[in-house]
Amino acid sequence: MRLVKETKPVARKRHICSSCGSSIPEGQQYIRHTIADGACLETAKSHESCFEASQLIYGMGSMCEGELPPIDNFQEEDLLYIHNRQPSLLNQLLKDSNIAQQIWYGRVE
Ligand SMILES: [Zn+2]
Repeated sequence: MRLVKETKPVARKRHICSSCGSSIPEGQQYIRHTIADGACLETAKSHESCFEASQLIYGMGSMCEGELPPIDNFQEEDLLYIHNRQPSLLNQLLKDSNIAQQIWYGRVE
């Protein structure tokens, strides 16, 4: 399995992020990647922030089965790690992704 193509188009209509399941609103730039898996070509769409966060936490080599590592596997520690390294990325992730919001805010006591 390998990444064939990665582009950053602007959404012409609403999409669902492959990583977090939240919507990518019309007009927002997102990551579109095409992955070759044997004979199949799969295309995944995701928030730029989800994609960058996944790469930061899991690294590129962890992508499998044509899927992005789902953000809902993230732990609070992972978000903290992002927060410490790239605070602006975490801010964007919290804007884009409901799941990230739940993980980040839901466990603040
Ligand atoms: Zn997302």
